[in-house]
Amino acid sequence: MPVRLVIIGGGPGGNTAATVAATLGADVTLIERDIIGGAAHLWDCIPSKAMIATGGELSELTRARAMGLFAEGHLDVDALRERVASIEDHLQASVRQLLESQGVRLIHGTGRLQGPREVVAETESGREQLDADFVVLATGSRPRIPDWAVIDGERILTTREAYPPQEIPEHLCVIGSGVTGVEFTHMFSALGSQVSLVVSRQQVLPMKDAEVAAVLEDEFLQRGVKLLKGARAKSVTREGAVVTVDCDDGRCVKASHVVLAIGSIPNREHLGLEEAGVEVDEAGYVRVNHNCLTTAGNIYAAGDLSGKLPLSSVAAMQGRKIAEHLMGLHVRTHRHLDYEKASSAIFTEPEIADVGLAEADAFASGRKIRVTKVPFSANAKALIKGDARGFVKIISDPATGVVLGGSIVGRNAAELISVIAIAVTNGLKVVDIVDSLLVHPSLAESLAEAAW
Ligand SMILES: Cc1cc2nc3c(=O)[nH]c(=O)nc-3n(C[C@H](O)[C@H](O)[C@H](O)COP(=O)(O)OP(=O)(O)OC[C@H]3O[C@@H](n4cnc5c(N)ncnc54)[C@H](O)[C@@H]3O)c2cc1C
Repeated sequence: MPVRLVIIGGGPGGNTAATVAATLGADVTLIERDIIGGAAHLWDCIPSKAMIATGGELSELTRARAMGLFAEGHLDVDALRERVASIEDHLQASVRQLLESQGVRLIHGTGRLQGPREVVAETESGREQLDADFVVLATGSRPRIPDWAVIDGERILTTREAYPPQEIPEHLCVIGSGVTGVEFTHMFSALGSQVSLVVSRQQVLPMKDAEVAAVLEDEFLQRGVKLLKGARAKSVTREGAVVTVDCDDGRCVKASHVVLAIGSIPNREHLGLEEAGVEVDEAGYVRVNHNCLTTAGNIYAAGDLSGKLPLSSVAAMQGRKIAEHLMGLHVRTHRHLDYEKASSAIFTEPEIADVGLAEADAFASGRKIRVTKVPFSANAKALIKGDARGFVKIISDPATGVVLGGSIVGRNAAELISVIAIAVTNGLKVVDIVDSLLVHPSLAESLAEAAW
């Protein structure tokens, strides 16, 4: 009899676990209450990047003037909304098709545990009880809403209500300057909004390399974004079309809209965790071990619910590792997921991407490292494209030459970081990058130069 797997949540964590387990021969049922593809497709990665792409094209038009091309950009918000929706629909249909082609049974409903080996699905047509050898919980997370703000869905928004927008806000106040906050700042300023960004510390992206954050701050300032550094929002109120954000240092912003980007909380309520013996940590995330197994021996957790790195790519990788583990494949091929080697990107302009060891962390721990940095201003392709902002930084072990990490700020950083990510994951040395024959002219040449 095949292994019976029930998965709750159809985002990247859940749907990847489903596809891989079904490919490996499991009998898989996936319960999703909203859309297959999850928050990643509906609210997070896809709509934000689709809107950022439109803003990027507007910036290209401005840059094109230096190349002798004069064209005016006019933003049609309805066309933008339609495009975002059609990308979402297309991706959702592809994931659904993939799951169905692998024989995964899809249930549209809400799932909950009823003990370690039993799951209940509540659907429009009633209640279904499902027996399972293994369960994967992949219910994701949602934006955190503080008690000092009431979301009205019109002018006081979380990232979920902010797009696709009915109109481009005249003046948007973004609260929170982590990855989501800076992406929203970039997105709406590129689309024509005046933006004020409330930054609780002295640097945007407080968890990132100071040099990287400085490039972005300069870019924001050049575009007229107002940075309120060292300010914490303490209340958000609305009077008609004006939203007021009051900060704890006495400053206040009057804007047409406000978006809160101050983190997320796990979707763990009503999941029956306690009955099934699944423990959560102090912040409410499900505790998992290195195989993503929870404290209940046959229940796994993937994605944002597991409180590891809140990235779609990580959720999907966890889903794959879980499927391999429960199907016994790890005995032959399993390599534990090393979150410290996950690459991530921030889709601002310029783009920012990094992977592995950060310079500041190496210094803090006293570890000896070699840091090499090359600006894109010396790269032929960057000059040809009219965008030579940013740099490549590679961190390696001075004794062995093994690549430990790196950051890239600049055009296509999210793509280029893959080279360093492959080196970091596989223990490659700087010489392996230097000795690779790369295309000329290409942005990747700066990677070889930085590795040299
Ligand atoms: C604005 C924004 C932009 C982002 N951009 C990126 C990006 O560019 N790249 C990146 O890697 N990450 C990005 N992320 C993070 C990424 O979206 C998440 O890390 C990812 O969605 C997590 O995947 P998941 O499978 O854990 O959950 P989700 O994608 O949240 O999916 C969980 C699913 O579970 C369903 N569900 C919940 N409870 C139940 C239940 N009881 N029964 C049935 N179904 C249930 C939900 O309906 C949902 O569909 C972004 C996040 C935000 C907020």
